[in-house]
Amino acid sequence: MVGFIGLGHMGGPMAANLVKAGYTVIGFDVVPAAIEAATASGVQMAASASEAVKEAPIVITMLPSGRHVHSVLDEVLGAAAPSTLFLECSTIDVDDAKAAHAKARAAGHRCVDAPVSGGVGGATAGTLTFMVGGPADDVATAHPLLDVMGKRIVHCGDAGAGQAAKICNNMILGITMIGISEAFVLGEKLGLTNEALFEVAANASGQCWALTSYCPVPGPVPASPANNNYEPGFAVELMSKDLGLAASALRNAGVAGDLGLHASEIYERYLEEGGKGRDFSAIVTDIRRRSEG
Ligand code: NAD
Repeated sequence: MVGFIGLGHMGGPMAANLVKAGYTVIGFDVVPAAIEAATASGVQMAASASEAVKEAPIVITMLPSGRHVHSVLDEVLGAAAPSTLFLECSTIDVDDAKAAHAKARAAGHRCVDAPVSGGVGGATAGTLTFMVGGPADDVATAHPLLDVMGKRIVHCGDAGAGQAAKICNNMILGITMIGISEAFVLGEKLGLTNEALFEVAANASGQCWALTSYCPVPGPVPASPANNNYEPGFAVELMSKDLGLAASALRNAGVAGDLGLHASEIYERYLEEGGKGRDFSAIVTDIRRRSEG
């Protein structure tokens, strides 16, 4: 039996895959649409978060932010059986993740932070990458469930290490997407075709995932959101959130992270100026717009 709290875009399909694999999943969410979809996929809905955890040896949380994670933990830790393993999969601040570990342990439970990459597509297909932080025996307990929901499980270290890896990876992604987008807009101004720049950079030292798997201009990579009017994908809101977490981690750790901090500001501005609801690769359209005239 597995408790599952937060059955939204990611949690819903993750829980559905556990049901498909034969687990009894007791779920809880606060939004009617999420409850309806989870029920349809075979999740047994509980009347409260405490109800969802009370008989489950493992509880998964997949919530919007650290604030939600801590409020749910405060509510359920007392209701869970001793030594329940809390598998915290939301993307949250490293310090929030460490505090969640400490809180769970102080209440006599176990905790693993296991944020994901792979998006809704990966959650649905059961091909997520899990970046995992926590003691090795707790990670071993979580492994069978992680194997159902994902295809790559990387144990990054102790409490908070999963979140640290997630935040660093997405900072790379945000920075490189801006860099690739600036290069395409500059190329356009200099009279280069997008195809020519792609052909050169994809086979030279400019090569990176944001270019070759997720190209921000239409054409070179048929599956990229640029070919679908920048429908997400990975929405600007989520990139902006993750870069905000990276920026606060840079500040807290005293790292001279000029590009990470600037990338966070760039996506925050785009979110306020038309980016809401678009894929994060649409940043190229904002750079083009701001380069007009
Ligand atoms: P979402 O908003 O679709 O889902 C979160 C769910 O949590 C919602 O259904 C909401 O009703 C529920 N919730 C909020 N407070 C609750 C409470 N107190 N009790 C029970 N349920 C509660 O978000 P999502 O896209 O599923 O993302 C979840 C997490 O995964 C976030 O931290 C996000 O950053 C991360 N993430 C998302 C993606 C993506 O592509 N969507 C990719 C990687 C990581």
